[in-house]
Amino acid sequence: WSVETIAVVTGGNRGIGFEITRQLALHGLTVILTSRDTVAGEEATKTLVEGGLKVVFHQLDIVDHDSIDLFYTWVKEKYGGIDILINNAGVSYNTGSENSVECAEKVINTNYFGTKNLVNAVIPLMRPSAEGARIVMVSSRLGRLNGRRNRIADVDLRQQLEDVESLSEDTIDSTMSKFLEQVRDGSWITGGWPQNNTDYSLSKLAVNAYTRLMARTLSERPEGQKIYINCCCPGWVKTAMTGWAGLTSPEDGADTPVWLTLLPGQSITGKFFAERREINF
Ligand code: NDP
Repeated sequence: WSVETIAVVTGGNRGIGFEITRQLALHGLTVILTSRDTVAGEEATKTLVEGGLKVVFHQLDIVDHDSIDLFYTWVKEKYGGIDILINNAGVSYNTGSENSVECAEKVINTNYFGTKNLVNAVIPLMRPSAEGARIVMVSSRLGRLNGRRNRIADVDLRQQLEDVESLSEDTIDSTMSKFLEQVRDGSWITGGWPQNNTDYSLSKLAVNAYTRLMARTLSERPEGQKIYINCCCPGWVKTAMTGWAGLTSPEDGADTPVWLTLLPGQSITGKFFAERREINF
């Protein structure tokens, strides 16, 4: 990896995203720190640049199509393409099991649909290389399909989401739409959804399923044009998202995403990692 390697981090202005940016830049990469808030993003970038790191700022709101378009055009003009995309941006509002319509919509639209839209937009920008271009999704163990205490009750739906050979984007999207419909009409509580941080858990379940689906699609690319995509859980991290509760620092939370990004000679794709180890979906 060198300064020629261009990595993009979403939600890089704070928390785990800021640490991922810092650690990747410490490894010698050029990192584009993106943030939906320009002031916060420029301030975070300034701190890293003053520390001697090669970090560049650009605004990027993953739920805003115009913002994604502007970002795409800017990257293409300035760098020609990118090598690495880290989808770190995310939101969570509920600490219990309540889902307000507004929060559930924001969580699903940001964590799943926003992330998916960005990935789809950026794939044409990813440069072929010997190492293979990489996409890393910062997901969560809360989104595990077969988590013992926090899973979808519908066995058929679980199987559909689990069988990567027959999995389709439509299955994932319609699962999210069905959940949001039930939040709107109040029936979600008996809908058999995960009971712990329901909207957030489902959004990350969708991110994981989409990771596996994309890994399948991208593996069909010819040699030399491969893109590897994996997801990971950073652990329970003391950030604004958790109200600074948690077991680890943002620095430790960034460890697995950074390790996964930089795995040498990688051909691993469509897998889920935590604490630098593969875990089950
Ligand atoms: P923070 O709340 O500290 O950071 C979240 C980041 O995402 C912020 O930079 C935020 O921007 C950004 N963001 C939110 N919405 C958008 C958007 N529409 N476009 C661009 N950026 C956006 O949380 P963490 O650092 O803890 O979370 C980082 C990732 O790690 C998330 O995906 C989270 O789900 C995941 N994660 C975190 C865990 C934890 O214990 N903390 C556990 C498991 C997973 P802004 O500052 O403008 O709000």
